[in-house]
Amino acid sequence: MNLNGLLHEIKKLHPEADLARVERAFEFMQKAHEGQKRLSGDPYYMHPLQIAIRLAQMDMDLPTIIAGLLHDVPENTAVTLEEIEREFGEEVARLVDGVTKLGKIKYRGMERYAENLRKMFVAIAKDVRVIFIKFADRINNLHTLKVLPPVKQQRIAQETIEIYAPTANRLGMGELRSELEDLAFPFAYPEEYEWLKKIAAEPMATKAKIADKMIHEVGKLLDTNHVAAVSVHGRVKHLFSLYKKLLKKDRDLNKIYDMVAIRIIVKEVRDCYQVLGLLHSIWRPMPGRIKDYIAQPKPNGYQSLHTTIFNNDGQIVELQIRTEAMHDFAEYGIAAHWYSKEAGTGKKIPKEHLEWLQRIINLQKEFTSDETYVENLKITLFRDRIFVFTPKGDVINLPEGATPIDLAYHIHTELGHHAGGAYINEKIATLDTSLKSGDMVQIIQDKNRKGPSEDWITIVQTKMAREKIQDYIRRQRRLNLFNLFSRKT
Ligand code: MN
Repeated sequence: MNLNGLLHEIKKLHPEADLARVERAFEFMQKAHEGQKRLSGDPYYMHPLQIAIRLAQMDMDLPTIIAGLLHDVPENTAVTLEEIEREFGEEVARLVDGVTKLGKIKYRGMERYAENLRKMFVAIAKDVRVIFIKFADRINNLHTLKVLPPVKQQRIAQETIEIYAPTANRLGMGELRSELEDLAFPFAYPEEYEWLKKIAAEPMATKAKIADKMIHEVGKLLDTNHVAAVSVHGRVKHLFSLYKKLLKKDRDLNKIYDMVAIRIIVKEVRDCYQVLGLLHSIWRPMPGRIKDYIAQPKPNGYQSLHTTIFNNDGQIVELQIRTEAMHDFAEYGIAAHWYSKEAGTGKKIPKEHLEWLQRIINLQKEFTSDETYVENLKITLFRDRIFVFTPKGDVINLPEGATPIDLAYHIHTELGHHAGGAYINEKIATLDTSLKSGDMVQIIQDKNRKGPSEDWITIVQTKMAREKIQDYIRRQRRLNLFNLFSRKT
């Protein structure tokens, strides 16, 4: 793959795009990474290039593709974000900055933080396009994971399964989610992966043969009844998704009915119901297995009709019926129709996509609506926010540059007054350390400490902490005066 490969991909979907700008970004990036190599031995520029190509294939807009090219520049080269902004504008710079920030969030293998980390991931990205770039980045890194030391492999694979894949799922990006999971699976759970591959290979091949035969019969059924299908095809369940289901079904493959399923894609919603009726007229449906996700979509917006039937040989097969639009959404989620399709063609972004975006925006609000936010706003108006964890897994939202003292006062005034030190990610740290997003911070109490020291006022970053310290000092002074006075008389 080279620059021409990228330009070719972009031209396919955006014939009118300003390719000179892409070329300029490519050259800028190549120069910035000059002499650098990936651990695989490839020249570094191959990595951002592959990501940009992937983003182009995902039908992303031009600023996203350019940001994909530049995504590792500020972090890994001498070129700064300001230079990127000067060369490629504010929008591209903002996207690159978001990717850099997201890269600093790390999953440390603690289940109880996972949900907060997922929310944080979305909130910090601010722009959903940043998440798309990060997904493309992660997929590319998973492909070369084997060159990393095992400890790193394990961490990245776990993080992919716990944070990236569920986030993709919530954005409705089913295909990407499965891709992430299946790439990470062998590194995250090597023995389980080998076990599953061994036990599933044969049953899967058998089921695929059954499905092939049935696809033919479904085609005939639709023809005779004059239903125009867009496509009828088989789909094999992704390995990690099969694994998760098996864990819930006593590891018994016989309890899995959708290892291979048949997908029928039609034009209209009413065709979906007609096809369901036709299928049931020739094959007996399994009780309790008819699901109408069209009338009642899954929380992530997934829509489809599902049914499981006994075919003429008594074999059990799942069928999924949906329209093209539902199919696109199931595979690509909010990334479907993201850019080009609605620009110019008069097509609107489907309502459910907008709802998803709204939910993300609400998530961001969730993290900025705590009480201290308004207060903090006064002194941190132009500052970014960070998110840190307490040992209980609570997420605390603080301004960038905040210290353990700020956190201590945020939790409790007394904890602030008696703070003696902190553990940051289980390593001991001083009270004036600047916290970073994703840090797990435990405040160490110093029982012998009488109260805050005056120089803390210059260290803290939140108004709340500053006021509590000043308050304490004022009270202390009054008390001292009083003591002085009472001693004299
Ligand atoms: Mn990268």
